[in-house]
Amino acid sequence: MSDSDIILRTEELTKTFGALRANDGISLSVPRGEIRGIIGPNGSGKTTFFNTVTGFYQPDGGSVTFDGTDITGWKPHKIARRGLGRTFQIVSPFENMTVRQNMLAVQTTADFDKRARADEILSFLDIDHVAENQASGMSGGQQKLLELARVLMLDPKVIMLDEPAAGVNPALQERIMDHIRDLNEEGTSFVVVEHDMSVIRSIVDTVSVFDQGALIAEGTFDEVRQDKQVRQAYLGTTADDEGLPI
Ligand code: ADP
Ligand code: MG
Repeated sequence: MSDSDIILRTEELTKTFGALRANDGISLSVPRGEIRGIIGPNGSGKTTFFNTVTGFYQPDGGSVTFDGTDITGWKPHKIARRGLGRTFQIVSPFENMTVRQNMLAVQTTADFDKRARADEILSFLDIDHVAENQASGMSGGQQKLLELARVLMLDPKVIMLDEPAAGVNPALQERIMDHIRDLNEEGTSFVVVEHDMSVIRSIVDTVSVFDQGALIAEGTFDEVRQDKQVRQAYLGTTADDEGLPI
């Protein structure tokens, strides 16, 4: 695959905390238009990877290339404005602001009218009726939608979602997955960290598996769930409904 087909590439990306190698030389490429899943046991380095890729942590080694540009070491807002958006595992809206105000607070450089863009996103996500509600009064699931709404204000080429389904009721989960599919059909690429394997199975093209800071396997969901090293990594952790490691 040629370089221009890759929207996001990390090479030997490394982040250490003292003696801990939270990301240990991760080389991962996401082709344009793909929905990539990242799975792995708790503490395997998934959120660290998001933080290192999106500028919230400075890497201790390696590089990040986004849409052909080396963005290693760039500040988070600069990366976001370039079109690499992300959400957080722990949602953090401005609680004393309304949903709409939260969206308008996103700093963009895009040349669209921000208010019109916010209206468009509110209606796309079916949350226009709560636009004037305080963010603090929203359920956890609705706050996840607000996070997605805020990211969409950036008109991103890639969206990285850290556990979009966690703490969200099944109906809303399904809606969020539908939005991800719709956005993907329009050309947005995704990187999704998620513990819920039914979610991973239903939306991702390819899965990358992390264990102890390293990338240990890659393939379709069915390929990686058969992988011996992957099953080993999950042993002793919560089994899914089918009683399998993943
Ligand atoms: P995951 O998202 O896969 O559950 P994390 O990336 O959050 O894993 O964490 C990977 C490892 O790095 C864990 O051992 C965690 O305790 C450690 N870690 C993450 N962030 C920090 C930090 N800011 N300071 C020190 N250790 C951290
Ligand atoms: Mg995490």
